[in-house]
Amino acid sequence: MKKIAIIGGGVAGLTAAIYALRSGAEVTLFEQFGLGGQVATIDKIENFPSHSSVEGWKLASDIAAQARSLGLKTVRKRVLSLQKHGEYFTVVTDGEEYEFPAVVVATGTSHNTLGIEDGYVGHGVSYCATCDGAFFRDKPVAVAGASKAAVSEAIYLADICRKVYVVCARSQLSAEEKMLVELFAHDNVDILYNASVSQIAEQDGNVAAIKVFVDGEPRTLTVNALFVATGAAPVTDFIHIDGLERMRGYLVVDDRCETGIKGLYAAGDVTNGSLKQIVTACADGAKAGAFAAAYSATIK
Ligand SMILES: Cc1cc2nc3c(=O)[nH]c(=O)nc-3n(C[C@H](O)[C@H](O)[C@H](O)COP(=O)(O)OP(=O)(O)OC[C@H]3O[C@@H](n4cnc5c(N)ncnc54)[C@H](O)[C@@H]3O)c2cc1C
Repeated sequence: MKKIAIIGGGVAGLTAAIYALRSGAEVTLFEQFGLGGQVATIDKIENFPSHSSVEGWKLASDIAAQARSLGLKTVRKRVLSLQKHGEYFTVVTDGEEYEFPAVVVATGTSHNTLGIEDGYVGHGVSYCATCDGAFFRDKPVAVAGASKAAVSEAIYLADICRKVYVVCARSQLSAEEKMLVELFAHDNVDILYNASVSQIAEQDGNVAAIKVFVDGEPRTLTVNALFVATGAAPVTDFIHIDGLERMRGYLVVDDRCETGIKGLYAAGDVTNGSLKQIVTACADGAKAGAFAAAYSATIK
């Protein structure tokens, strides 16, 4: 009997479920909150094929309904621990233990925050310029961050926004020379070094300005968006399996979305794959679900 567990009910986990269920596997999906993951929180999505514009909750609930219609079993609990004993994996939630021959980890990432943006996510605060930059075309925006990710977000935004402030907590940006040269070539980019964002000012519930300190001096920047690029961390702390390869914390997978541990697959933002988007998370989920189901059939 094909039987797999999926940990994480975002689009990667749900797509894994659709592929595994359609191949005849029994699927148990563990999700700590409602199904849909990050997608369910996105205001508007304009880069998912077949939808020129769709609300995140709608896309998430359509994918969840499709998985449910195929017989998906869900356990609405946080997975506290994943271990491997012999050929079987043990999934532990509070008070329950389950055994599976194959598991797909699709737990995504959790963003580092500035601690001031609560209530503004989707109203001018974003963690993804590729996703949300186009909503602020020809508007002034700010990027908070000092790393390669912040530089990359700023370059992307400089091509579409009128003005881009980079609020860099250090005395220099940390990125490859080539990227820095590209950023500095934009005359609409203003980099504020030794700077931090202290407050968001709103109008009608949307970001209208940010208050910053630059070298200890207060300043107000009139911007319509604040892109927070202070890093995100993959959610893998519950996995206790020796020999599992990680790259900067992300799970390393091959082109079948299998980790180096037999029977353990990973999909979506939690992996070391590039371009962390809905369409790539779904593509990973398809591979992980199909191959995990096939592998589970080989275990007695
Ligand atoms: C603000 C914002 C806007 C975005 N806009 C776009 C866009 O326009 N277009 C686009 O393509 N991409 C966009 N993205 C990126 C996209 O949302 C992600 O790439 C995609 O959602 C990743 O899906 P995932 O299933 O891998 O992870 P997630 O959606 O993060 O799902 C992971 C799930 O795992 C669950 N989980 C975690 N740990 C546990 C545990 N221990 N036990 C049980 N459950 C657990 C979480 O609760 C969550 O539901 C955006 C991202 C953000 C933050």
